[in-house]
Amino acid sequence: MGIIATIALVILGISFMTFVTFFGRLPVLRRTPIAWLHRLIWVYLPNGVLGLDQRLTSGKVTTSCTRFGKFIMYDRHPTVLIFFFLLLSVGEILYLPTAWPQLGGLQKTTGTISMVLPYVFLYLASFSDPGVITPANHAREMSRYPFDFTLFHPGAECRTCALLKPARSKHCSVCKRCVSKLDHHCIFINNCVGVGNHHWFILLLLSTAVLTLYGGVLGIHLMTAKMRARYPYWNLLPWNAYGGKGIEFKPWLIIWSWGLQDGVAMGAVTLLTLLTTPLVWGLLAYHIWLIYCGTTTNESMKWGDWQAEMSDGFAFKRRMPADRPKNLRIEPRWTRWPVETEQILVRTDDGKPPRSDLVIPGVGEWEPAWRLKDIENLYDLGFWDNLTDVFFPNYTFRDPQMPVVEGRARKKRRRRAPR
Ligand SMILES: [Zn+2]
Ligand SMILES: [Zn+2]
Repeated sequence: MGIIATIALVILGISFMTFVTFFGRLPVLRRTPIAWLHRLIWVYLPNGVLGLDQRLTSGKVTTSCTRFGKFIMYDRHPTVLIFFFLLLSVGEILYLPTAWPQLGGLQKTTGTISMVLPYVFLYLASFSDPGVITPANHAREMSRYPFDFTLFHPGAECRTCALLKPARSKHCSVCKRCVSKLDHHCIFINNCVGVGNHHWFILLLLSTAVLTLYGGVLGIHLMTAKMRARYPYWNLLPWNAYGGKGIEFKPWLIIWSWGLQDGVAMGAVTLLTLLTTPLVWGLLAYHIWLIYCGTTTNESMKWGDWQAEMSDGFAFKRRMPADRPKNLRIEPRWTRWPVETEQILVRTDDGKPPRSDLVIPGVGEWEPAWRLKDIENLYDLGFWDNLTDVFFPNYTFRDPQMPVVEGRARKKRRRRAPR
């Protein structure tokens, strides 16, 4: 029992740390213990270690650790991709010799499909073009999304790529290239997640989530069947077939540990899948939620920043008329998005509205924006259209030449910024 408990604790600890690392910076969890733990792990503890190392070795240890950490996180190399691939393969190699002979025909088929799909989607997510912006496709990418004058303003230039930044694009500092609708750079696939592979990334998360859940449930099922066969009275519940009285917790656990040790490879992989399942499903749910909100990881950070500006009273908005003059060089006509912005949001340094002598687009008086609720999110068309946009990035939602259908446009305009 001792070794297994230790392994389980270590895996649980790693899963929890990964959870905190992934979710601790989310604006939604800003005032929760998760965010506090994130600061503890990534700010306070490193600072403490840094201070100690400064005193003991005058900083030699931390310098080399920082270099290694930077290499893992900020350089483009397949180390984590290989680790992920090995985790999948080694897990399956350990699991299958025990599990496979016990499976029926249907289970073998569903099992094979759920094992193959993560590899397929891992390959597609890693090796397909995330939407790298080049001089050749720049005009097309500029017309992909309209500028919302809130998160993205026309005229910004990427100095590294020497190109005007299209709306929703971002320069990836790891890959050193601009990517269209960049969600984030993912070290697990050693690639950016952008307009070209966002759907493969979602399918990779979904297939991995299904695989870990399936492997965990199947492993538990096989192990309990084995333990029941050997110890028919193995049941905690009082209403079982053996004397109507459940066994006590301690012998129940001892039989569990026998079950795990009897097939230790499959048992360990089952434990690992059960402990990582909530993490993978959590990540999947988070990305589905982002799609539901019509935003990306990158944009959700920007919305978080705006929330802070608004709370401090530094954000102002005013109306943008539809017939405003446009500089078509920096703001070309878009071809596939059904709505355009009706507002402009700016920040000022002094908490006062922008000065009237500044040339800023829009008409009318500036009014303070206090809450994200008062701001429209141009990139949110509703869940199903957002999902369509992820899976069919070249889908044209409505011919922009056609008159706007009143009801539908109204409904779309009412979508608000994610909170
Ligand atoms: Zn760039
Ligand atoms: Zn990248």
